[in-house]
Amino acid sequence: MTCPAKSSFQAALVVLSVAHLTAALKCVCQLCANHTCETSADGACWNSVMLIDGKEEAVKSCLTPAEMRGQLFCYGSRNVSKRNCCFTDFCNNETLHLHTGRPSEEGGWGRLQWALLVLVLSCLLCVAVLLAVCVLQGHRCAYSRAHRQDPEEPLDDQTLMSPDKCLRELIYDMSTSGSGSGLPLLVQRTIARTIVLQESIGKGRFGEVWKGKWRGEDVAVKIFSSRDERSWFREAEIYQTVMLRHNNILGFIAADNKDNGSWTQLWLVSEYHEHGSLYDYLNRFTVSVEGMIVLALSIASGLAHLHMEIVGTQGKPAIAHRDLKSKNVLVKRNGTAVIADLGLAVKHDSACNSIDIPTNQRVGTKRYMAPEVLDETINTANFESFKRADIYSLGLVFWELARRCADRGFHEDFQLPYFDMVPSDPSVEDMRKVVCEQKFRPNVPNQWQGCEALRVMGKLMRECWYTNPAARLTALRVKKTVSQLSISNDVKL
Ligand code: ADP
Ligand code: MG
Repeated sequence: MTCPAKSSFQAALVVLSVAHLTAALKCVCQLCANHTCETSADGACWNSVMLIDGKEEAVKSCLTPAEMRGQLFCYGSRNVSKRNCCFTDFCNNETLHLHTGRPSEEGGWGRLQWALLVLVLSCLLCVAVLLAVCVLQGHRCAYSRAHRQDPEEPLDDQTLMSPDKCLRELIYDMSTSGSGSGLPLLVQRTIARTIVLQESIGKGRFGEVWKGKWRGEDVAVKIFSSRDERSWFREAEIYQTVMLRHNNILGFIAADNKDNGSWTQLWLVSEYHEHGSLYDYLNRFTVSVEGMIVLALSIASGLAHLHMEIVGTQGKPAIAHRDLKSKNVLVKRNGTAVIADLGLAVKHDSACNSIDIPTNQRVGTKRYMAPEVLDETINTANFESFKRADIYSLGLVFWELARRCADRGFHEDFQLPYFDMVPSDPSVEDMRKVVCEQKFRPNVPNQWQGCEALRVMGKLMRECWYTNPAARLTALRVKKTVSQLSISNDVKL
């Protein structure tokens, strides 16, 4: 607690005592004659303000050197909030104030005003900083859109099509942004319309496949006739299934439908593989044990990926190919393979256990049709049935492949499955008799038993072409077995 009475008394004492001193220093003194006092040179002028009964009381006087020594008078006591000693003539002339929050009696700025000023200035500073951040952010967003692409946003076509981009980069950009299901349509169209066709490289069910160039890079263009628009649309749709992209599935680039006045050109652009189909490749070359394992593993991996359902928002439905054969597998330059021609594929909607398009029972290539497809006993209500039919065809493709494996100088010529049992363009009836009635399967030569890889391949294909679809291996099982084979044969992938 403060004691104003005692304080004023002390102050008065000081004032009285210093008033009698004679010195060289002259100071203001309220209680002295002429309001002036004098003290010796090593004394001081004293200026103080204290709160007495809630009011500021200022005292100005001289301090003797003795008072100075104790330093008591120059620094605060409990009641005197502010004191000042100074050492030039009349230097204590100024009026001190306590910062009690009361307005200044002389109209100067008190603490409140200063506080308000600081507050207002801080607010202004905050607003300015916020504005600056927004402007900067705006610039950064624009920069990011133009240069770096936010992964949450769909790619800007201009960015995608920058002239230095190669196909691999385009496809990488696409797979790391947006839905991951395909390039924007405008970009697809732009690519397709800047392709220069070079030579026809293949003919299939629906038209012609051409080799073309886009910005100096090779591409394959499958051209559908306008009456096959549904097939074109279907294949493009399947290739653009979310998460379908895989090392062992043909890399889709673009689809385009261009009306040239008299008819509509329907294009499907994909990565080009100079070796062409596995059928062409095996016709031309034999493969080493290692080469066979690499091809078998990539086909099994591609099929396992196709068959697999990936659950989640960015998931993928299970897909059955329905036309697996050596002509629909392409061989890459590095000796691996991709599964192509997804025009007959069906997707499984697991939520309602339905298939995405109405299916007729018998599609695909007759020679590769599973027994249950040939005799129409396939249960099309169950999606597993389509996958099991694919596995049967996979067994036949493995057989074609294994025959061309040159082991210790021994290999066989290239042949299609059942080449020795049916005519060259067999009817369903031809196939049904051999496969369903006589239950024949391609011959697995005895020589294969002498080579571990061929023996495993022989066993695998038998387990793929069982008459009972449910007894067949799954694509994942086949992939695992071939993968083990690759490890035991020290095959570098
Ligand atoms: P279809 O649906 O008419 O059967 P495919 O897609 O199977 O058409 O292609 C027919 C043939 O064209 C293949 O067997 C293969 O020889 C060749 N071919 C297709 N796509 C490519 C490609 N991307 N690279 C190289 N050759 C290809
Ligand atoms: Mg084909």
